[in-house]
Amino acid sequence: MKFAVTSRGDDVSNTLKQRIETYLLDFGLYLNEDEPDLVITVGGDGTLLQAFHDYSHRLEDTAFVGIHTGHLGFYADWMPEEVEKLVIHIAKTPYHVVEYPLLEVIIVSKGHKETRHLALNECTVKSIEGSLVSSVEIKGEAFEIFRGDGLCISTPSGSTAYNKALGGAILHPSLASIQIAEMASINNRVYRTVGSPLVLPQHHTCLLKPLNKVHVQVSIDHYNPIFEDIVSIQCRVADEKIRFARFRPFPFWKRVKESFIGE
Ligand code: NAP
Ligand code: MN
Repeated sequence: MKFAVTSRGDDVSNTLKQRIETYLLDFGLYLNEDEPDLVITVGGDGTLLQAFHDYSHRLEDTAFVGIHTGHLGFYADWMPEEVEKLVIHIAKTPYHVVEYPLLEVIIVSKGHKETRHLALNECTVKSIEGSLVSSVEIKGEAFEIFRGDGLCISTPSGSTAYNKALGGAILHPSLASIQIAEMASINNRVYRTVGSPLVLPQHHTCLLKPLNKVHVQVSIDHYNPIFEDIVSIQCRVADEKIRFARFRPFPFWKRVKESFIGE
């Protein structure tokens, strides 16, 4: 099996990365950073997000597993103390794969330039100056005109990240869906939005068309590019999925409890 190890870049994560590489090479596995079957990330959830984007061109052939050198993560759910155990699992046992849904984002700019992105956590749409005014269409039908700070469209596994801070629900990653959460919408006699987070099933698209002439900042996970002249942003559940290598059960609700409530 071919593997790659990525690190957050701090000393602790770098040292652990080196140890994992040495162990796995000793077990006769192959280090291959271009075409790994398994990517092991050392750091935090952000490190796994980065690895996802680095290998997003080969999601069908690459599985991920994360070790946290800080706090317990949602993607990085192995502790540094467990590394020997994990390495033996990787070398000796065929692993079980669980798939999580992803978000597809298609951004169309003036001149019909179209770019397609995949997000593991979410896409956010904000304006750089002043409020964002955007029409929201769901499944091809006009739904509302949003005015406010912005909108966050998240995956189920991203629902515990930015979405949660916006009052969105936590969704189990077995639900192939996307969630739209508002950032400080303006609601009065003139302007009206639904106000509640919405969960859309597979094949229901959400289309945003910014209506005021502002520079729109679209984030895809931890990337924050600024776009001028955006015509539309289309979000839906992607056909692709991310594959996680599972070597032991660690149910999602247990991760939620341990992350947000305590042991
Ligand atoms: P960061 O600023 O380090 O991330 C913010 C926090 O979110 C970190 O504690 C990170 O964990 C955690 N996180 C990432 N994905 C998560 C998930 N799926 N569930 C629960 N927590 C998660 O930046 P980053 O590490 O590059 O992560 C980018 C993410 O930050 C974005 O995708 C967005 O979801 C989140 N974010 C949140 C807010 C907010 O809550 N107000 C604002 C902006 C961005 P680690 O420390 O383990 O990396
Ligand atoms: Mn981080």
